[in-house]
Formats: sequence, C-alpha cells, structure tokens
Amino acid sequence: MTETMVFFSAFDDFDGWRSALERELPDLAVRRAEEIADPRSVRYALVWKPPQGFFDAFPSLSLVVNLGAGVDALLGRTDLPEVPITRLSDPMMARMMAGYVLFAVLRYARDIPVFERAQRRRQWHYIHPRNPEDVRVSVLGLGELGALAAMELARQGFDVTGWSRSPKEVQGVRCLAGMETLPKVLANAEIVVVMLPLTPETRSLLDTRRLAMLPRGACLINVSRGAIVDEAALTEALLAGRIAGATLDVFEHEPLPPESPLWGMENVLITPHLASVAIPRSAARQIAENIRRIRSGAEVLHRVDPRRGY
Ligand code: NDP
Repeated sequence: MTETMVFFSAFDDFDGWRSALERELPDLAVRRAEEIADPRSVRYALVWKPPQGFFDAFPSLSLVVNLGAGVDALLGRTDLPEVPITRLSDPMMARMMAGYVLFAVLRYARDIPVFERAQRRRQWHYIHPRNPEDVRVSVLGLGELGALAAMELARQGFDVTGWSRSPKEVQGVRCLAGMETLPKVLANAEIVVVMLPLTPETRSLLDTRRLAMLPRGACLINVSRGAIVDEAALTEALLAGRIAGATLDVFEHEPLPPESPLWGMENVLITPHLASVAIPRSAARQIAENIRRIRSGAEVLHRVDPRRGY
C-alpha cells in the first residue's frame, strides 16, 4: 500500500527530494501539503521551518524528519506532534561542511586576508608561511559535522583541539569535554571554529567574557548558528582588533540586515548560510532507512532529543 509523506521547505527543492525518496521507496508518495486530498493518509513529514500549526492538519503522522542537521527552529515550536523527530545525517553534507571549514582555516593559517589587503595597496607583502603543526585550531562541537571537519584539519597537519559535551575520541584530535574545560580550549585557540548546535545551553555561549578568553589576534569561524556568538560583542572585539578576523556563515538574524556593521568590516568574510546543504540523492537513503524502521517497529536512527535540544 502506498503511504504519503508531506513536504515543506521554503527552498524550491521539492522535485529533487520527491524523485530521490520515491526512488528509494517506490511505495512512498511525496507530496506538497496543498496536493494532499486526504490528510489522514499522511504518515511522514519532511520539513524545513513549516508555518505554525502545520502539523495539526496531519493526525496520522508517525515520523517528522527535519530537512537539515540543525533542529533549533523545529524544537522551538509549540505544535510538534508526539512522534519521533529525526534530523538529516548525510556523509555528503559532512564532507561539504568540512570543505568550507578547511577553506576558512587555511585562509587564516596562510595569511590570505593580509595578502588580499596588500594587493589592494599594490604591495608585495611577504610573510613567511607557518607550518600547520604550529597553528592551534579549536573546534567547538564534535558531532557528525564537527568531528569530520576536525579530522580533516588534523589530516592537514594543524594542531587541533576538539570540544564537546561528553568525552569523545577523534583521530588526530586532542579532545576535551564539558563546560569546565572551555576556558582552556578557548585560550589555546589561534583559530576557533564554532560547530555546536543552538540549544538553551549554547545560546550566547561566546559572549564578551568568553570571547576575551581567546588569545589576542585570534580568528573566529562560525558555521553553525549565529546566536551561539554574541554578535555585538564579536563586532566590538573585531573593531578593537582583539579578534583579528571572522568568517561568518550564520547570523543572529538572517538574512543579515543591510545596516549590520559586519558588512562593511575588512576583517570579516560573510557567506549567506551555505557552508553545507542537504543533498537529496545521498540524504534520501537515511530517510528511507528510518521509514523502513518505523514500518517494522524498530528504533529510528539520528533521533533528536527535544529535552537536550539537539
Ligand atoms: P551534532 O548534533 O551531531 O553534534 C553536536 C556536537 O556539539 C556534539 O559533539 C555535542 O556534544 C556538542 N555539544 C552540544 N551541546 C554542547 C554543549 N552544551 N557543550 C559542549 N558541546 C556541546 O551536530 P552536527 O555536527 O551535525 O551539526 C552541528 C550544527 O551545524 C547543527 O546543529 C546546525 O546548527 C549547524 N549546521 C549549519 C549548516 C550551515 O550550512 N551553516 C549546515 C548544517 C548544519 P556530544 O558529542 O557530547 O553530544
């Protein structure tokens, strides 16, 4: 019997998801909400920021799949059904993220922003390259995305420290865990990469006090969620030169408002929240596996814990 999955995303990527999922599960019909005649036939929802009240229309849901790795927007709602919630976990998404992080770290480690500025002055400004082993990078968050990025940085020879909530082992990475170790992780970071989920615990984690724990002249890369870093405190530290540069893919308010001072700052590189995106072809496999598990009564994979917030 064919089952229905309802799809909602502000991005116009419906056709890609429908064909990838229906290829994985020929007895699944993926439909937009407005195409569904009988809402009671809908067993699964694949959603990215659906409007408030969206789930009320579908009383037979047995699984909600968040169309992304970060679930903060979904868990902040009051209309979630009492069914398992999963997030995307896709090796291709992790690879794309690791590529962005590697680019951003190498850009600082090889002094590229200095050469960009020198070029604008038509100046031949030689700085002898440093060995990656002498560049200390701290990666905050060692989840599916953070662990791979940290491993790639270690593979490039950087001196990498990783930080998570619970103790972890990541090849080539010095791993520390828990709030009490954060000051040490920050004090040791010439480049800090933020790869934490946004939860009540991590909101504004990098505030004025914690940003001041970074060594003078450190650089910050944020690829997870803007609200983890106090944007006003970061802007101030960048203006004062205490933080030498920032690469920001995410912001407290997106799109970043035109009046934000960050736009005009020479030592800031801004990208519009695309460090990594979900790729239907590869992510559909994981979604299909979870639907099979729901059908057979097994535990789903990559389940989100609403109490933990990620
Ligand atoms: P995971 O949920 O797999 O991992 C989260 C990591 O953060 C874990 O290591 C976890 O610790 C750690 N962590 C969580 N809370 C704390 C805390 N309070 N203190 C210390 N460590 C903590 O997430 P992913 O790696 O898949 O993704 C990270 C984030 O990246 C997503 O939540 C999303 O917001 C963002 N993202 C951004 C994209 C972009 O394009 N910019 C694209 C995709 C995702 P532990 O291991 O102990 O659980």
